[in-house]
Amino acid sequence: MTAKRKPEQATNGPYRFTPYDSDKGEEYMNEAQENHFREILGAWKKSLMEEVDRTVHHMQDEAANFPDPNDRATQESEFSLELRTRDRERKLIKKIDETLSLIDSHEYGFCEACGVEIGIRRLEARPTATLCIDCKTLDEIREKQMS
Ligand SMILES: [Zn+2]
Repeated sequence: MTAKRKPEQATNGPYRFTPYDSDKGEEYMNEAQENHFREILGAWKKSLMEEVDRTVHHMQDEAANFPDPNDRATQESEFSLELRTRDRERKLIKKIDETLSLIDSHEYGFCEACGVEIGIRRLEARPTATLCIDCKTLDEIREKQMS
């Protein structure tokens, strides 16, 4: 039996980083800050891509030997779980790419809905956030009401 991995681990973010130490009066999303988030997002993406790679190899290794039907059923549900995880990881990688291009066009870090600064600390916790905490909260309330 191979050791159980936790494939969802890498998608959970935030990626390990040194919190940004901003000077008083420093301009929001100046070049240093943009680079800080470029680094966080880049490292996160890299770890996700490694995870996707590992999943593929893991499945190729295991698909080679099919034991008895019970084991096979277990293996199949394990595979479908891994496929879902991989799908999630792919979407996240896409989201990270979109976020990186926001940084490139200097639009990163501002709320999509109301335009305010999302804030360094919130972005460090959720580097792909596109809404400020207020708009996000409103969004979640609306979602709850709809469901
Ligand atoms: Zn907002």
